[in-house]
Amino acid sequence: MKCNEKEVVYMDNNATTKVAPEVVDAMMPFLTECYGNPSSMHNFGGQVGRAVEEARSQVADLLGAEAKEITFTSCGTESDSTAILSALQAFPEKRHIITTRVEHPAIKNLCENLGRFTGHKYRVTRLQVEADGTLDLLKYEEALSDETAIVSVMWANNETGVVFPVEEMAKMAKDRGVLFHTDAVQAVGKIPIDLSTLEIDFLSLSGHKLHAPKGVGVLYVKRGTPFVPFLAGGHQEEGRRGGTENVASIVGLGKACELAGVMMEEENTRVRALRDRLEEGLLASVPKSMLNGHKTDRLPNTTNISFEFVEGEAILLHMDIYKICASSGSACTSGSLEPSHVLRAMGVPFTAAHGSIRFSLSIYNTEAEVDFVLEKMPPIIAELRELSPFWKAE
Ligand code: PLP
Repeated sequence: MKCNEKEVVYMDNNATTKVAPEVVDAMMPFLTECYGNPSSMHNFGGQVGRAVEEARSQVADLLGAEAKEITFTSCGTESDSTAILSALQAFPEKRHIITTRVEHPAIKNLCENLGRFTGHKYRVTRLQVEADGTLDLLKYEEALSDETAIVSVMWANNETGVVFPVEEMAKMAKDRGVLFHTDAVQAVGKIPIDLSTLEIDFLSLSGHKLHAPKGVGVLYVKRGTPFVPFLAGGHQEEGRRGGTENVASIVGLGKACELAGVMMEEENTRVRALRDRLEEGLLASVPKSMLNGHKTDRLPNTTNISFEFVEGEAILLHMDIYKICASSGSACTSGSLEPSHVLRAMGVPFTAAHGSIRFSLSIYNTEAEVDFVLEKMPPIIAELRELSPFWKAE
């Protein structure tokens, strides 16, 4: 199979990212000659084990954590499930979970299933968001109780990029003796994180969102936080996660974390400037378009724009003619005709929620690509609106 990446304008980095060439180079020995089992006693396996430990330190350095606090998993979804289920098992007498209405399905569906599969043994508070996607901390404070086993609040939203004040929220949970988990899958590598100064007990991340391969993730567990493994099995990961390690991907993730630390400034200057140029250009050139999400409390790479009275799926198909890749809703929910639960929770009107497009950039995007998208989008929207009975009725 051949995918020509040079042909596409890839602005769908919150769905997944290009594996950095440096990451591929770091992985190659572990896909070829270095195939020993990291748990083996012999040196052929032992040297592979040392590469896994180096990757653990690289991840820890990016997060301001200790290497011992890093457990490798298969993905962000596994890390999320492990954190929540661990807290529920560690405190079986506590039957309350606090989360938000805008979490990724990895948390949203887990909480729904927990209710269903346990005969509604658990009470779940889903915090409402404001119109700009932000949270009301007073309502959060009211929701915290002695019965709360865990709070799970994403660091940054995958659809709008809105960043939640998890530092403050974790502190508030700690003051009430409640464990705090954050799904930081979209935040890691894009904004600075220093866990050494924070009261966060669990943090999830996923390799494929920061230029490492798919199928590798991390669960950070703060030293001293009670932990119950999700995957029982062998003694890998100090008994915290059974299953032979995905060595090549773990090594790749370590390298990606090292690169992310170096590129963070570029992410927050050049990528932010490209995103702003794209956003401002689209809002200025397309009538009845609006930004979804807080203007500043947001990831530097993400913009979610609604083009009223047109269908997001139709827009994406037209963009595909020019090989421009973006998303309507999140990649996981596209394919369903339901408007995104995130935009609905923000109260975005139906006609606008349906026509929302998320552009998510990376360090690999260029100004020329932004200008190309700015040239192609206004005629696409105008053409689709000509076919829309709702637009004509306006
Ligand atoms: N959490 C968030 C915020 C995400 O954006 C995603 C993926 O889109 C996930 C969790 C799931 O990560 P993974 O695909 O590694 O399971």
